Amino acid sequence: MQRVNNISTEPIPKPSKTPRKAPKAIPVLGKVGRARIADRRAKLKAEPANHEGYRICYLCSGWFVNVDLEHVKDASTHPGLRHDKTNHKWACRQCNDRKKNAR
Ligand SMILES: [Zn+2]
Repeated sequence: MQRVNNISTEPIPKPSKTPRKAPKAIPVLGKVGRARIADRRAKLKAEPANHEGYRICYLCSGWFVNVDLEHVKDASTHPGLRHDKTNHKWACRQCNDRKKNAR
């Protein structure tokens, strides 16, 4: 039986000498960002979505997949309640924006 040699005899191209671009820097989260993510994570754990992944907006009572963590009492006027779990509720983006713009 004859063996088939598939290995090509062409020289392997050398890698280009142009310097590689540095990868984009990953934005580093500060203290506030980390706390915000921790708040959201705790809320997600405490109030799981329904079987289809929907959560209810407490302002318009609509069901949404993408919900924002809303501060019932505004965090800027009540800084002590910023990370208070009892002050967190789910709101849809529209309601959250409406509330944000109203103040
Ligand atoms: Zn809503």
